[in-house]
Amino acid sequence: MGSALVHVSIALPEEPSFPQTLVMPRAVPMGYGERPYDTFVGNVAAFSAKSDALAVTREEGAPRWRVGRAVRIEYDVDLARMERQILSAADASKVRRGYAGILGYSVFAFLEGKEDRPIRLVVQAPLGWPVLSTLAPEGGDLRASNYYALADSQVAMGPKLRVLPIPLSGEVKFPFYLALYAEGPVEEEQIARLAGSAMEKIIAYFGSTPFPHYTVHVELLAPISSEHQYFFSMEHLDSASFYLGKQEGPLPEGRTRYNFAHHFAHAWIPKRCYGEGYFPFSWELAPLIDTVWFSEGFAQYAAIAALASSEEERQQMLERRFRSTLRDAPAFLRRMNLRDLSLVASSRYGADFRTGSNSFSRGGLMAAEMDDRIRERTAGKKSLRDALRYLVEWSRKNQRAFKIEELPVRFGEATGVDTQDILERWLKPLD
Ligand SMILES: [Zn+2]
Repeated sequence: MGSALVHVSIALPEEPSFPQTLVMPRAVPMGYGERPYDTFVGNVAAFSAKSDALAVTREEGAPRWRVGRAVRIEYDVDLARMERQILSAADASKVRRGYAGILGYSVFAFLEGKEDRPIRLVVQAPLGWPVLSTLAPEGGDLRASNYYALADSQVAMGPKLRVLPIPLSGEVKFPFYLALYAEGPVEEEQIARLAGSAMEKIIAYFGSTPFPHYTVHVELLAPISSEHQYFFSMEHLDSASFYLGKQEGPLPEGRTRYNFAHHFAHAWIPKRCYGEGYFPFSWELAPLIDTVWFSEGFAQYAAIAALASSEEERQQMLERRFRSTLRDAPAFLRRMNLRDLSLVASSRYGADFRTGSNSFSRGGLMAAEMDDRIRERTAGKKSLRDALRYLVEWSRKNQRAFKIEELPVRFGEATGVDTQDILERWLKPLD
């Protein structure tokens, strides 16, 4: 590939009746922080219905360009510089000889006020390159119901991209794909098998398949510098992306399957069942969210409950994932209440992972305690699984965020068990 620039052209179906503003994301769903995607954008040009070039002015200090009453807007994004300057591999698109892996929100801007419009995506790849979009991994027209769906999708392409269907053994069938790019030897059958079994368990836990198809996008990368980080993964509406460092032999089975299950669980929580701040999303500045403990803690607990084959194993996972984190937490974090800790984590989750891990550990142990009580008081007839299934369905019907104080109400409706005191205790500081 001769160039690491992506050229984006946005065409509107009709001339807008008032001047438009082009906005590039600096915050992304589940990113819990800011990424300066606007700094990799160049050559912004706008054209009228008569194809005349219009004046474009950048708003100082903002990821915004005034583009007038443009019907067509064009710009370039420098993916090579993006990868060099964004140190977290999970947040940067990649271009290699024979491969490109593109995160929607790192290249797609939106027109302010038009975020809810449906979008058709046309991808022009280098001649002969196969293309996969997570909008339609099985091929065909690429359509997003709104900007969020487009931004949260990925495009992978090139002769070095491997695409294979992931077999599912259960009754549930849907298009389920592994899109894999590896710089070095990789056990692709192991990855597909672990992803398949993790997905089966998570679907069995939630009792629903809320997406029409799902893509597991895996990049196994040789580090481009010692400062770049390769351990974070990212969940999306109908896909998840995983960034692995170079492997010696097979991946560790238990840890890899849990990692898949954790990120798959996010397709239900919080992608489709969430506290305030997740939807509608604030793209220019990371939104302040006081329920990170739910989104991360309850989703991870769901993964633990779905995967654990015995009570002993469940306890081991709770210990490894949550209890040990809280035991090692510094005093100033222990003294924070859970809402405040979440608010901090919602803008610096990865930048200071102690805020992230302490939020999800407290949330995960809250979930475990609620699960224990529901099972005990219903003599094993119900569990937190029923409460979460109910909340997911409630979210689908109501299409809104829940408020924290609603949680025990919904859980009570689902199971008949009162969990309010458990919520209130965990919301308090640890010390
Ligand atoms: Zn997570």
